[in-house]
This record gives sequence, C-alpha cells and structure tokens, in this order.
Amino acid sequence: MKSNLQQQEFSPTHDFARQLDKNDPLRSYRQRFFFPKHNGKNVLYFCGNSLGLQPHGVEKALRRELKHWREHAVEGHFRGDMPWMHYHKFLLPQSARLVGGLETEVVVMNTLTTNLHLLMASFYRPTKERFKIVMEAGAFPSDQYAMETQARWHGFDPAGAIVEVAPRPGEETLRTEDILATIERHGPSVAVVMFGGVNYYTGQYFDLPAITKAAHRVGAYAGFDLAHTAGNLPLHLHDWGVDFACWCSYKYLNSGPGGPSGIFVHEKHGNDPTLPRLGGWWGHDEGSRFQMKKGFIPIPGAAGWQLSNAQIFSLAAHKVSLDLFDEVGMDTLREKSLQLTAYLEFLIEHTNNQQPTTNNQQSPRLNIITPKNPEERGCQLSILTGSEGRKLFDYLTENGVVADWREPNVVRVAPVPLYNSYRDCWRLAELLGRFGG
Ligand SMILES: *Cc1c(COP(=O)(O)O)cnc(C)c1O
Repeated sequence: MKSNLQQQEFSPTHDFARQLDKNDPLRSYRQRFFFPKHNGKNVLYFCGNSLGLQPHGVEKALRRELKHWREHAVEGHFRGDMPWMHYHKFLLPQSARLVGGLETEVVVMNTLTTNLHLLMASFYRPTKERFKIVMEAGAFPSDQYAMETQARWHGFDPAGAIVEVAPRPGEETLRTEDILATIERHGPSVAVVMFGGVNYYTGQYFDLPAITKAAHRVGAYAGFDLAHTAGNLPLHLHDWGVDFACWCSYKYLNSGPGGPSGIFVHEKHGNDPTLPRLGGWWGHDEGSRFQMKKGFIPIPGAAGWQLSNAQIFSLAAHKVSLDLFDEVGMDTLREKSLQLTAYLEFLIEHTNNQQPTTNNQQSPRLNIITPKNPEERGCQLSILTGSEGRKLFDYLTENGVVADWREPNVVRVAPVPLYNSYRDCWRLAELLGRFGG
C-alpha cells in the first residue's frame, strides 16, 4: 500500500483500517501515551485539540525535579545538568523548530492569555489615527475578552476599535479574500491584525503568510494565537515575517492542564530594546540581573519578555512533550495528519451515504463544516449535527468516545497523528453509522 492515499483510494472496511495502521511509520508513538479507560478498555480519544494525553515520560521528569528540590533546595538553581536558573533555555531549540523561529525568537513562560496581553502591551499601542484590531469573528472567547479589554484599557470603545471578519451569509468559514479586503479597507487605522492560527470552532486554518503580508501593507503588526496550531501544523513564523505569536502547551502539545505558553517575537522586534514592554527580572540582562540596580535592560530576543523565574514543574512536563515532537518532526506528523483526517472525513461521508438505506427513521446528517481543502485545516473536523446532535454526542460518550461538544450543535473530533490510529477513526465511524440504526 502506498504511504499517501487519496480520498478515492480509501475503503470503508475494517481490514483496510488495519492495513493503514500496519503501514503507519508513527504507529509506535501511541504506546508512549496514557489513554483513559472506559469499561476497562482504552477510550477512543478525539479530544487532543482540547487536552492532549499524558506522555509516559512526564512522571519521571516531574519526579526528577522534586528530587532535585528535595536534595539541593536553593542550590538547585545552579546544580545538575538542568539548573533551574537556566531552565527555560532547555526548551528553546525544540520550541524554535516547532514554530519555525530562531532560538532567540521564542521562549516558554506564563500561560497563554497572560502572554497575549504581554505581547499586546508591546504591539498594540494605539493612537487616535491607528487604533483598530482586526480579528476573526467567533474567535476563542479568551481572545475576544483580551482584545475587548485591551481596547478599553487604552480608552477606546471596542465597538469602534475591534473589526471582526465574519463568514458570508450561509457560510461557516472565512474566505481569505474577505480577510485581506477587510485589512485593506481599514488601512491606516489598523494597529494590529490578531488572528487565531486555526479557529477553535470550525477547525479552519488561516493563511498566516497572506494575512501577515496584508497587515504589513497597511503598516500594522500581525500577531497570531496558535493555541490550536502549534503541534498541529508546521509553521514558519520567522520566514513569514510574523511579528508576534503565542500558544498554549496543553492541547496538541500534551503538556498537562494549565501547561505553560510559548511566545514568538520576530528578531526585528526582539532585538529592539526600545520597544515598550512590561518587564520583570527574568527578562533583564543576565549579567546584571542580580545586581538589583535601577534601569531595565532587556535580554535580546523573546527571552526579554519574561517576567518571572521559570515554572519548573510545568516546563519539565512540557519539555518531555516537546522532545517527542522534535523526535518526530512537524513535517512527518503533518504527513500522517493529512491522511488520517482525510480518512476520517471519508468515513464520515461514507456513513452519511449509508444512512438512507440502513435507517428508515429521520437520521442526523453529519455536516462537516471544517474546510474540505486540506491546506485550510489541521487535524480537527467539526461536525454540525442535526436536531439529535446532543443525543448523538451522549451516545458516543456512552460508547467510550471522548470528543467534545460545542453549543449549539457541533461535535469536534481531532484525530491526532501522534497517538490516534486509523482503527480509532474506523471505530468512531462505525459508532456514528450505528447511531439510531
Ligand atoms: C485554549 C485557548 C485559550 C486558552 O487560554 P489560557 O490562557 O491557556 O487559558 C486561549 N485562546 C485560544 C485561541 C485557545 O484555543
């Protein structure tokens, strides 16, 4: 069997799913994660877009730091091969490769929404003429609240300062041309274009290079919230000229609840010490940090946005997962992801087609609202269900599927290439096919 099959070459049989698994070069990675149990068996986990599974190595990494603390206390900052004093540096190479940045352009610190505000403090400095934030309508709520309160914080009415790009009537996702036209139309009044990389609800992956270019054409900054993108799609933030970005580590990046956030600041800004920011001692020049003198001197690069000393336990868990991603590589992951998601899409559509003949009752039509074009999505598929949507979701849950439900009637499923198998997809589709039948 070829390694990369097209939609039309898929077959709905269980044997075919087994063959796909057999030929999957990443199949062994599944064994490196803990799956919750349902009736004594592994659940069918499709919620990696919300909280990734625990990698096996995390417990050991946490124990290691507990031991270090127990045995060295304050000296732990300086001792061992990963002294806490420098801990954030041990995550830089993997983070840089993950998002396509230089090591000096990334750092892991705080949590996502906190970082979004810190970055906006530098990149959203509105004036009377240039004060607008262009964002996607239906952005993740935290991003909406962050942008709304940023506008107010600077004395602007969000109604005028925030420009949302919405889908056209009757459509579920955004058209790139509409995003670019909106940026163009508001022109010199735009301060920042702030988009999600992948929209959490529809799973749409936006054209980040095109949006960045359009923002720059009107003299605005381009920033992205990559919560649903990091670990899901290969990124080239440096080459694309993205100004800033942030992401969380607990979704696709499997680093545990409330896990730390990564940030990216392009070197053209990171190396500019005059760029205003909110500072703290951990972002201060290392050579003079402990002199406790007046005058903030930022470390060049993204590290200069750090405030506090590193959250060692969170970073230790995150490092285990980052190392896994680094071992596999985003391009290899994406290759499997493209096929895995296409396969699930094929199976869902096949289920739809089977319904009229296998089921005389009104059955829910499973309408995938995630873009069909693989270039415009990561692994997640968002399924708009009919009036029986909630019943369908509960039925899946009772049958050991972990997916998630978004009001009013969307079921989101994310086949994650690192730990989901083709047979997981097959079993999910089989359950969908049996619902109400
Ligand atoms: C998950 C998610 C968040 C969550 O933010 P936290 O600060 O980590 O709680 C924010 N924005 C987006 C786009 C998300 O997907």
